[in-house]
Amino acid sequence: MPIYEYQCRRCKKQFQSLVMKKEEEKKVFCPECESRDLKRLISRVIYHVSESDRLATFDPNVSKGDSFLKDSRNIGLAAKKRAQQLGADLGSSFEEKLEKLRTDPGSVIRDSE
Ligand SMILES: [Zn+2]
Repeated sequence: MPIYEYQCRRCKKQFQSLVMKKEEEKKVFCPECESRDLKRLISRVIYHVSESDRLATFDPNVSKGDSFLKDSRNIGLAAKKRAQQLGADLGSSFEEKLEKLRTDPGSVIRDSE
């Protein structure tokens, strides 16, 4: 389901809207000033790509740009891809660690102290 993020050109408010059909996009208006002069923020759509999709399109042999490396959701993706290719099960503790690392990178350092 595509959820798009918009920014109003008039008052600069950012908001999200669920757009089922292309025609519906014309009906989207700013909740703040009701302006229809909107800019769609493309970046947020990528946020809704599931991890399995990220994993499927992830190629460890292609060098990654800055934005990839700064995105904490990509932490551990290379390890997961490798395991997937080998048919290995990393287990739930790996998933847990990964989740922790992605949501709170500092906690891992704190735990090992
Ligand atoms: Zn507005």
